Amino acid sequence: MKNKISVNSENIFPIIKKFLYSDQEIFLRELISNATDAIIKLKTVSILNNDNNININNDFKIKVIIKNKSLHIIDNGIGMNNEEIEKYINQIAFSGAEEFIKKHKDSSIIGHFGLGFYSSFMVSYKVMILTQSYNKKYPSMLWSCDGSTNFFMKEIEKKSRGTEIILYIDDEHKEFLNYDHIFKLLKKYCRFMPIPIYINENEKNIKINNVFPAWKKNANELKDKDYLDFHRELYPNQLDDPLFWVHLNIDHPFHLNGILFFPKIEKKVDLQREKIFLYQNQVYVTDNLEGIVPDFLSLLRGVIDSPDIPLNVSRSHLQSDNSVKSISKYITRKVSDKLTFLFKNDRKDFQKKWEDIKIIIEYGIISDDKFFDKSINFFLFTNVDNNFFTLNELKEIIEKKQKNKEGKIIFLYSSNKELQFRSIKDSKDRGYEVVLLDSPLSVHLIQKLELSYNDISFVRVDSDHIDKIIFKGDKVKFSNINEEEKNLIKNYVNNQLKNYEFIIKLEELSEKDRPFLIIIPEYFRRMKEMNAFRNMNKNNFDKYQLIININHHLIKKILQIKSEKERNEIIKETLNLTLISNNLLKGKNLDDFISDKLRKLTYS
Ligand code: ADP
Repeated sequence: MKNKISVNSENIFPIIKKFLYSDQEIFLRELISNATDAIIKLKTVSILNNDNNININNDFKIKVIIKNKSLHIIDNGIGMNNEEIEKYINQIAFSGAEEFIKKHKDSSIIGHFGLGFYSSFMVSYKVMILTQSYNKKYPSMLWSCDGSTNFFMKEIEKKSRGTEIILYIDDEHKEFLNYDHIFKLLKKYCRFMPIPIYINENEKNIKINNVFPAWKKNANELKDKDYLDFHRELYPNQLDDPLFWVHLNIDHPFHLNGILFFPKIEKKVDLQREKIFLYQNQVYVTDNLEGIVPDFLSLLRGVIDSPDIPLNVSRSHLQSDNSVKSISKYITRKVSDKLTFLFKNDRKDFQKKWEDIKIIIEYGIISDDKFFDKSINFFLFTNVDNNFFTLNELKEIIEKKQKNKEGKIIFLYSSNKELQFRSIKDSKDRGYEVVLLDSPLSVHLIQKLELSYNDISFVRVDSDHIDKIIFKGDKVKFSNINEEEKNLIKNYVNNQLKNYEFIIKLEELSEKDRPFLIIIPEYFRRMKEMNAFRNMNKNNFDKYQLIININHHLIKKILQIKSEKERNEIIKETLNLTLISNNLLKGKNLDDFISDKLRKLTYS
């Protein structure tokens, strides 16, 4: 019996063939999903009915067989009778495909879901269905279609219950007859599908999937080992175990299960970062969760399984979709709840993990206000002696001592203990706390904190003389150096700094302070850091300021030296000591700071 598919458009198959060119492989997922559905339907029917015509063995499975020219997907599910083929394949499936194409021809859809059964025509010149309904009173049927709108249908000899789909793969898509390729695709899309799937190789049946993955289980049935095993199953190439995890499980107002793992974040850039996988009813959809999981959590790993994430809309629409918004909020809340619990329950252990998780939390604080509100209670500052404080704890400690004249509490920080040890020492000598803020996000974090709390201010220890950073109104006596002398000393020093970029400033510091001081003002440095982060411009060197303490007796002495040679040597030596104590000679030659004249005098 020859028939014409009852929908008018003649050109639907060429479109299907071209559609989602790069994603043609999804036909396999679609057909296996149909097979799975067919088995689940039969399970349901067998529970509901007590029909004599139904005799169900429970060995439900799906088989994938590769032959010379054809790919076979076989299930022992509910099957279809004559009328059902007519309805579900010729009408519903076809009109479904047509509607799909009409709707999405021009829009930038995610492209991870399919046309269902008809997607098989993307890779086949002919598709056949052999099927036997679970209800034995119906004959077995054959349906065949060559990719035109004509199809062929007839009764055939009795087959066993279920459906076999045969794809005659066309020449351009020979890879779908390659065992390794099909195996890889089954692993990608089907490895956690709920009905056992086997692929046939050399007469052997190899099982593809774990039908009951950990995220579908109840959290209180799972031990730590189960989570770690699941993490290994999910990321077989990953050697590091995760630090901890969050089990997601919600049925209202949307359905979502999943497990998110906190990985050990390596300091070095991890190019082949493991990703979170999105599943729908245990069917793999994508590992691009942009817009679904908040950005700052994209560093996590794991699985999210939700049938309620609409996939037939473009990415830009996704972000404004209400159910996606509430899913994203739910995930954020669960993650911050877990972190709060870990912090409260075992702070020591939390501190041990801190280095590995802090970048995620910093990112969250910067980008997500809800997360900020919660996480600020467990965000940890580390001081230069490796003690941990929450913001409130730290505030309490420094509130009295580190308050400046304007009443702001000054949070002193260092970005590098070694390079800034001189300034750290000055601060510690005065009994101040210095915290270490050395992450790439630090500058944004402190910006955020300063905006949120107007009684605090962050200043890097080397950004000025410590008594200027925390200025308490103390008076220093004025120097008795006149304007002419000021210019002279400036020029003398400047000459020794030839070829090197320092901004020279004269200041009246205490007599007991050092004669020269090197600083990088907070404001300019911070602006530059923020820009550098934006432009990813790493070649941005700090601009140093050299402060000359004109109250220091050495400066007065220098002005009295008559011999130019002697004067330059004293200045040179003082500068060198200053540079060394600020660790600024790294990789540079002392000579870089010496004028040609002095070099000649010194070495010839
Ligand atoms: P969808 O799966 O989205 O409903 P499809 O085009 O994939 O759309 O399939 C249309 C219909 O054909 C299915 O809903 C189902 O009723 C029927 N069908 C497809 N594959 C099978 C199968 N292996 N066994 C039984 N019925 C099937």
